[in-house]
Amino acid sequence: AQNTKLSVQLHSYDEGRQLLLTRDITLMTMADAMRRDFVANVSHEIRTPLTVLSGFVETLQMIPLAESERKEYLDLMAVQAGRMQSLVADLLTLSQLEGSLPPGTSEKVSVKDLMAQVASDAAALSAVLGDKDPEQRHVVHDIVFEPAPEWAILGGRSELHSAISNLVSNAIRYTPAGGRVHVSWSRDPEHVILSVKDSGPGIAPEHLPRLSERFYRVDRSRSRETGGTGLGLAITKHVAQRHGGELRVESQLGKGSNFMLVLPISRVEPLSD
Ligand code: ADP
Repeated sequence: AQNTKLSVQLHSYDEGRQLLLTRDITLMTMADAMRRDFVANVSHEIRTPLTVLSGFVETLQMIPLAESERKEYLDLMAVQAGRMQSLVADLLTLSQLEGSLPPGTSEKVSVKDLMAQVASDAAALSAVLGDKDPEQRHVVHDIVFEPAPEWAILGGRSELHSAISNLVSNAIRYTPAGGRVHVSWSRDPEHVILSVKDSGPGIAPEHLPRLSERFYRVDRSRSRETGGTGLGLAITKHVAQRHGGELRVESQLGKGSNFMLVLPISRVEPLSD
């Protein structure tokens, strides 16, 4: 095939006999290229806030500033440091997901408890975005969590929490003021489905297949501005797959998006006390 990579080795052994060994190393070469891309991406993501941060440090060291200006600089520095912290936290989560077996079915995670935690994260995020943006351009006023069902998911609590929080925080971060975020659970004969719907900008169809690639962003500046690492959906998709499920997206430009965490019904049972 056109992109097949072969390794060819010629071995000579007794009395001039030769052995030609060929191996298909296509997959190895691809994995290597992906690893290199990933390292380049991570370096770039770290370098940007680091450059800003060291610039500010230098300024603070060299120029005497009034207290109010100093405070302003320190606040900006805290934002950059926070960005690096989120990136490192997401990288660790991803590497833990990749380096561990999928969760078994012995832990029972109450959907009600999980959603209470996600709702409180959502409120905190909304408040932070509001503080950062006094004109409230980015604050969604209407975040609705439908009452959570009395189910237990057989799976990993903290990874499910990350997966769902990522979807809810994206919906809040990408939906402009006056918009709506609606979070609900449903089931069909084979699946339970968490749906996070927003009335945000929507996503053009050509981007949809790539959204859960690491560091893939439709709108780079919007992602950075609201503290995105570019790894959220990669994490969510991974968690879904580790539970035997999948991440689905439906979206319409100008109307909004619906991100769904779909889990097999075998991972769910009624909550018993
Ligand atoms: P990020 O940290 O950049 O949000 P994600 O992996 O969570 O990274 O999402 C990848 C990209 O998908 C985002 O940068 C954004 O362009 C797009 N996206 C995710 N969720 C939404 C949404 N609810 N509405 C519009 N675009 C979204």
